[in-house]
Amino acid sequence: MAALSSVAPLARRLLDLLLPPRCGRCGVDVPADATLCLTCWSAVTFVTEPLCEVCGLPFEIRPFGSAVCGACLAEPPVFDRARAAVVYDDATRSLVLAFKHGDRLTLAPLFAAWMVRAGAGLMEQADVIVPVPLHRWRLLSRRYNQAAVLAHALGRATGVNVVDSLLLRTRQTPSQGRKSAAQRTLNVRGAFALRNNCDGAAEVIEGRRIVLVDDVFTTGATVSACTRVLRRSGAVAVDVLTLARVT
Ligand SMILES: [Zn+2]
Ligand SMILES: [Zn+2]
Repeated sequence: MAALSSVAPLARRLLDLLLPPRCGRCGVDVPADATLCLTCWSAVTFVTEPLCEVCGLPFEIRPFGSAVCGACLAEPPVFDRARAAVVYDDATRSLVLAFKHGDRLTLAPLFAAWMVRAGAGLMEQADVIVPVPLHRWRLLSRRYNQAAVLAHALGRATGVNVVDSLLLRTRQTPSQGRKSAAQRTLNVRGAFALRNNCDGAAEVIEGRRIVLVDDVFTTGATVSACTRVLRRSGAVAVDVLTLARVT
């Protein structure tokens, strides 16, 4: 069975080579591979200024004075800054899900280009890119970690080193969907650790500025849990860069 299940993606990839390029979201023919058709492209809402300097939440109008949102003022996040390329809405949800579950990995360079633009300030100062890990059981059923795929595409686009074996999800956490912010925080508390056998983990983290990569920023609970681990291990800064963000 193992052999059969590995044939399917290969066959699909071969088929992809033979078929004309298709839109990564709706599947209509497009002139070039790994892109979107005009309709899907115009449905995507990019995160643009003005936004919260800390968590990257877009503001409807440019604020007077402090460009920090109420939530960040009331309770400053554990990470330094978070930025996202697109707003997570009906249009981008299908795109993210196709990337996460549907093997549409050819979209990674496009997403990375969007993320480089949204997180230019973060990437300029970054020493290392670290993806949010999946639990190994989930990795087995899904075959790839979408955050790691994004991290490597980002690394290729910027030349910043990617270390995807640094963090470990120590327990399988129930899906964060339909959970409140407080429930999400509890759900992922203590769920991450440094991988024991990661060679030179200390050198990778200590004194470094890290960009943590994930696909979607919802309440920030997951990236905050990862940030705590990285900070405890000596990271001087942890910024968060995601493909999409709930607003
Ligand atoms: Zn389309
Ligand atoms: Zn904020």
